[in-house]
Amino acid sequence: MGAMFFSLPRGVVLKLQEIVGNENVVLEPESYIYDETPPLIRPEASRDVVVVKPGSTEEVSRIMKLANERKIPVFVRGGGTGLSGGVIPTRPGIILSMERMNRIIEIDEQNLMAVCEAGVTLRQLLDAVERIPGLSFPPHPGDEGAQIGGLVANNAGGARAVKYGVMRNYVAGLEVVLPTGEVLNLGGKVIKNATGYDLLHLVIGSEGTLCVITKAVLRLIPEPGATYTLVIPFESAENAIRTVPEILRSGVIPLAMEYMDIGAIRAGERVTGKRWPHSGGKAHLMIIIDGMDEDELIRKAEIIERIAKTHGALDVLVGVGKKEQRDILEIRSLIYEGLKGETIEVLDVSVPPASIAEFVETCQREAERLGIEVLHFGHAGDGNVHQQILRSGMDGEEWMEKYLKFKEFAFGLASRLGGYITGEHGIGSVKKADMLKTLPGESIELMKAIKKVFDPNNILNLGKVVDVE
Ligand SMILES: Cc1cc2nc3c(=O)[nH]c(=O)nc-3n(C[C@H](O)[C@H](O)[C@H](O)COP(=O)(O)OP(=O)(O)OC[C@H]3O[C@@H](n4cnc5c(N)ncnc54)[C@H](O)[C@@H]3O)c2cc1C
Repeated sequence: MGAMFFSLPRGVVLKLQEIVGNENVVLEPESYIYDETPPLIRPEASRDVVVVKPGSTEEVSRIMKLANERKIPVFVRGGGTGLSGGVIPTRPGIILSMERMNRIIEIDEQNLMAVCEAGVTLRQLLDAVERIPGLSFPPHPGDEGAQIGGLVANNAGGARAVKYGVMRNYVAGLEVVLPTGEVLNLGGKVIKNATGYDLLHLVIGSEGTLCVITKAVLRLIPEPGATYTLVIPFESAENAIRTVPEILRSGVIPLAMEYMDIGAIRAGERVTGKRWPHSGGKAHLMIIIDGMDEDELIRKAEIIERIAKTHGALDVLVGVGKKEQRDILEIRSLIYEGLKGETIEVLDVSVPPASIAEFVETCQREAERLGIEVLHFGHAGDGNVHQQILRSGMDGEEWMEKYLKFKEFAFGLASRLGGYITGEHGIGSVKKADMLKTLPGESIELMKAIKKVFDPNNILNLGKVVDVE
């Protein structure tokens, strides 16, 4: 693409100002160039970028047409909470920040759907839905500052996926702008649609490389009722994690089933200033169950207690009150935050749920053998336990060598168990090389061909997911 991108021509900046208004073109991009990807592994961002904040689909379309004509790279930015470097502008160009497209257009109670612009945050959507009695939006990826566009683009998961599925299961329709500027409507307020190739689901999870998402039609469900939160400490990781598949087989599908090393819990306590209900044991399960009434909740809690005790649970604590449950969830949600300063990378490997015990135990042994600290926590019920790899005082060369060895081991094991290198955080810019090693060449070639069809000039989030010449 050559030197013309080392600075945007003045005429282009003027044109962008004409499209979105002077106040919505930012020439100081510092707070827009990184996401939550740990600094030790993220790629360097280009500072030679302008931030453009469109206020409508029409403006997005005009910006994309201009960028496509001039072959200017465009990096779409949502809430910037991503963990795979998906938003980082690795070349000079335009950052398209969706923050102004934050309107909730409709909560359709008849069809159980919400329609909103892509820049609406998860918190905003939850607030709007919670105002209507009896309705809920189940997906809850940890950071409520994430935007709907970003959640769809990453096919985000979160703790409630074990019972209610991931973002993909809640997207009924999308309005998108192609890299060439055309506006396209995919799906709509329908539950079923078998009309041709499923472009809607191709776009979900495409990490800002195929199109800009401008609106979403999202499915809602009737509120599942009350919840209990169980905290179950175990003396060993093995006992805790082996309980998980058995609970799933019992017929009780919890709303969330999270595993945590005690070190991870401590980090969550530090950052929240709150106390976890039990201080003993090396590994804990946090299980949230939902039910229509108290009887159902008690019945489910008793089944879980019986299974946990046969696996050596030290105790089974049941949180019933709203505040008590919120505090437990907050400690769990802020584990990442509490460990941020020491983190090299958070892996989010996905394995078949029945293999989760083997995966975690084998990885813990390998971490010990390598002498690297890896805390395990997260979505045990979906086979998607996160592995937070810590630097723990090691110097640059030492941590890099051990980290790479551990990562290769975990990814290799996941593949052998029939799993994948990422369950929800995506490829972005940090897992491209790993994806090439673990997916067949034919899949990669198909992905490249699809990218070329959507984006013939290779301007949209180029250098993410797959490299196209
Ligand atoms: C504390 C914490 C906890 C987290 N917990 C979870 C979790 O439990 N589950 C989970 O899945 N993730 C989790 N995440 C990761 C993150 O929140 C998700 O990946 C989320 O989907 C990112 O949304 P975002 O709006 O912040 O996107 P960004 O980070 O802004 O962007 C992510 C990707 O989406 C693209 N994108 C953004 N908006 C659009 C759009 N409108 N059109 C097209 N492409 C777009 C970007 O180009 C980029 O490739 C967590 C992150 C943090 C910091």
